[in-house]
Amino acid sequence: MKTLVQEVIEAGGGESIKACYQCGTCTGGCPTAGEMDYTPRQIIRMVNLGMRDRVLTSSSIWLCASCYQCQVRCPRGVRIADVMAALRSIAIRDGITAAKPRAPAFYQSFLENISAYGRQFEPVLILRTIAKSREGVAAKLGFLLGMLPMGVTLLKSRKMPLRAEKVQAIEEVRRLFSNAERLEAEG
Ligand code: SF4
Ligand code: SF4
Repeated sequence: MKTLVQEVIEAGGGESIKACYQCGTCTGGCPTAGEMDYTPRQIIRMVNLGMRDRVLTSSSIWLCASCYQCQVRCPRGVRIADVMAALRSIAIRDGITAAKPRAPAFYQSFLENISAYGRQFEPVLILRTIAKSREGVAAKLGFLLGMLPMGVTLLKSRKMPLRAEKVQAIEEVRRLFSNAERLEAEG
């Protein structure tokens, strides 16, 4: 049976994860560490120790904003942001969404929007996320109502169009997605 660290490396997290010496530089510069249940430094340690369930059910992997601050500053070349992305992929693949049930739906909807339009279109992003989320009806409604004020503000300030607009090079964007799917299928 594969160890968690092997799974993470295969999912694109990089061999360098084994070189972490727990200096905490990653956590020190992480803008969302204060909201996470385990800091980036702790996540890396737990992956190396094989603490699969605790890592894959943590909120941290979903709260990572992929800003790459940690990754560019790590003195050991650990690809922390890529590790977080690898952990999200593993959690989605294995249907583990306990910590943030809406988050995988959001990630998948985000990519579907990019594939459809080449950019984000927030109303569709929110509706797709609600449709895919495994939450109950009350939670979905609460999320939708919570988003309304921001939507109104964006519309009033003309930061969000009323209709989705595709980028000119949409076919190139779609080719990128097709190539990624082909590479994934080839293993
Ligand atoms: S900055 Fe790099 S070496 Fe330091 S704790 Fe984070 S992952 Fe480990
Ligand atoms: S990539 Fe994620 S873990 Fe790293 S600093 Fe940014 S938010 Fe934090």
